[in-house]
Amino acid sequence: MPQIIDGKQISTEIKDELKLQVEQLKEQGKEVTLAVVQVGQNPASCVYVRNKKKACEYIGICSLSYELPEDTSEEELLKLINELNQDTKVNGILVQLPLPKHICQDKVLRAISPEKDVDCFHPVNVGKMFIGEPGFLPCTPAGVIQLLKRSNIEIAGKECVVIGRSNIVGKPLAMLMLHENATVTIAHSKTRDLKEVCKRADILIVAIGKPRMIDDTYIKEGAVVVDVGIHRNADNKLCGDVDYDKVAEKCSAITPVPGGVGPMTIAMLMRNCIESVKVGE
Ligand code: NDP
Repeated sequence: MPQIIDGKQISTEIKDELKLQVEQLKEQGKEVTLAVVQVGQNPASCVYVRNKKKACEYIGICSLSYELPEDTSEEELLKLINELNQDTKVNGILVQLPLPKHICQDKVLRAISPEKDVDCFHPVNVGKMFIGEPGFLPCTPAGVIQLLKRSNIEIAGKECVVIGRSNIVGKPLAMLMLHENATVTIAHSKTRDLKEVCKRADILIVAIGKPRMIDDTYIKEGAVVVDVGIHRNADNKLCGDVDYDKVAEKCSAITPVPGGVGPMTIAMLMRNCIESVKVGE
């Protein structure tokens, strides 16, 4: 039986640590405030926003809600972001994605002040992360690093293959693994002989957005497997990019879906909210 990497438990541990930090900040007269902006009522977004607000409440972070109608113009949204940028009571700004098609996502994300960019999407923060400066870290990738570290899985010197090169998951994750001294390969849809590349991995991180695509034939015996994917199957059950049952028989440790990477993303968002108080000082 492989080690099951329990993201639910680890994320609770982190949230409890953050709760103490928020209490300490409050004793210094500092309140942590996150502005959550949602445009339209995409059902998945509503769930994510609700979970983020619940986490804020648990930790003691004040969350301000801005629920805008689907037909909000780009100009109106940019105006709100500008007001939130100026508002000294607001430390962090989160715009829930995806935005309606008539709004340019890049333009909106770049309008958020880098000091309040708790999702770490602004090019300034991406650049800082790239060169290893302290500050915000991208939430899902940082969550994966915490999962590995807190499960006592050594990263330094290991062969790590990341499948996926999106700006939100694959690329920043590869960079954070490099900072942890792994030897990193990034695979993608144009990679030749993906199976052979994956079989090199001591640590295989899967972020391809294809339900259960990675089975045991991609895995080296004893590898650690992290499944970032999240999908709902026909029975409305959650599954990942990894065929869990097949892979679990061959690997030494694995993250389940649900209960693996998912809860860590929100915990890392909360960490960034606290960081935003320091960044803004
Ligand atoms: P994207 O669709 O943006 O990126 C997918 C990546 O996988 C691309 O780089 C693509 O390559 C690569 N890819 C697709 N098909 C193949 C293939 N057959 N072989 C090799 N590579 C392939 O997805 P995201 O990075 O945004 O998300 C990945 C997964 O993680 C999704 O399931 C998503 O739902 C989940 N996710 C989970 C989060 C969480 O909190 N748990 C947070 C964010 C995402 P190419 O670049 O060549 O097209």
